[in-house]
Amino acid sequence: MKILVILTGGTITMVRNEKTGALHPADKETFQAFVPELFASSIEVDMLPFEPLIDSSDVSPELWGKIAHTIEHNYDQYDGFVVLHGTDTMAYTASALSFMLRGLKKAVIFTGSQLPVGVLRSDAKENLLTAVEIAAAKDEKGNSMVPEVSLFFEAKLFRANRTTKKNAEHFAAFESYNYPAIAKAGVHISYRTPLIIYPRQDAHLEVFTGYDNRVAVLKFFPGIRQDVVHAILSTPSLRGVVLETYGSGNAPSANWLYEEIRNTVERGVIVVNKTQCSTGSVEMGRYEVSINLLKAGVLSGYDITTEALLTKMMILLGEYPNDTERVKQLMERPLAGEMTAV
Ligand code: ASP
Repeated sequence: MKILVILTGGTITMVRNEKTGALHPADKETFQAFVPELFASSIEVDMLPFEPLIDSSDVSPELWGKIAHTIEHNYDQYDGFVVLHGTDTMAYTASALSFMLRGLKKAVIFTGSQLPVGVLRSDAKENLLTAVEIAAAKDEKGNSMVPEVSLFFEAKLFRANRTTKKNAEHFAAFESYNYPAIAKAGVHISYRTPLIIYPRQDAHLEVFTGYDNRVAVLKFFPGIRQDVVHAILSTPSLRGVVLETYGSGNAPSANWLYEEIRNTVERGVIVVNKTQCSTGSVEMGRYEVSINLLKAGVLSGYDITTEALLTKMMILLGEYPNDTERVKQLMERPLAGEMTAV
C-alpha cells in the first residue's frame, strides 16, 4: 500500500526552533525523527513538500488547483492521498477539492494540527498517522473505504465540504454541524458506510481547476445600512453573492433591501441564501421576512457551509462562464454531498 503525503504548509509542517522560539518548515528528516512510525509500518509513505510551505491564510485558488493536479499526476501510483494544510483555511481548500476532483475512487484526506510537529504534546502525530491509515484502508474487494475528499481531525473523519473550523485552541478544531462524522477512530476505526459516497464502478478521475472569484459574502446584522449593501451589490464585476441571513433564511423586510437584491439578480448575478446559524437549513417562505428574497430570485443554500457555498460558486462560475441558468440549477443541487436539499 502506497500513500502520498502532500505538504502545503500550516502548523503541522512546522518545527519550533529551540533557541529563537520561531516556527520554520520541517523537512523529511524532522518527520522521520518525530513520527518514526510513519515510515515503519507496512504502508509505504512518500512525502511531497510544496515550495514554499505557507501559512494557510495565504492560500489562493491557484493552490487548490496545484493540489488537484498533483493528485491527478500521481493518481495511478498511489492508493490514497493525505494533504497537510494549515487549519485556518483548510475547510475552504478541502471543500474546493471536493468539487474539483470528480469520479474519485481513492481517499483524499486533509489534516493538520494545532501544535507544531515535534512539540511534545503535539496533535500532529495522531492526526497524521490515523489519516494515513484511513487513506490506505480498503474493503474486501480492494476498494478504498472512503473514496471521498475528507478531513480528519481529533479522532473524527468528516466529509470535507461539510466542515468549518470552530476552535482556534482546542485539539478538536473542526466541526461538521449538518452531517455526522463518516468515520471515528478509537481503538478501532469505525467506518459509517451508509454515510459515505461511493463512486460508480466505471467512474474515472476528472479534474477541473477553473474558477471565477468575482464573488462576495454579505452578512446581515441589525442596523445594516443601505449604502453599504448598495456598495457591495453594485460592484460592477460581481458574478455571485452569498447572503448570510438570519435563522431559517430571513432578512430585514425593508423595501430598499428587496429592491437592491432584485436589481442584483436582474443583472444576472447569482445570489444564494445561507443562514448565519451553524446548524439547520434555509427555508425561504417559512416566515414573511424571507418571502421578499424568494420573490427577488434568491436561491436556497439549504444547510451548506459558507466555505462549501463560496468554493462551489467560484468553481461553477469558472466552469460555465456564459451559462448563468446552468450555474443556478447546479447551485441548488448537491454535487458532492455538500448539502441536503429538501
Ligand atoms: N495559521 C496556521 C495556518 O492555518 C494555523 C494552523 O495551521 O493551525 O496555516
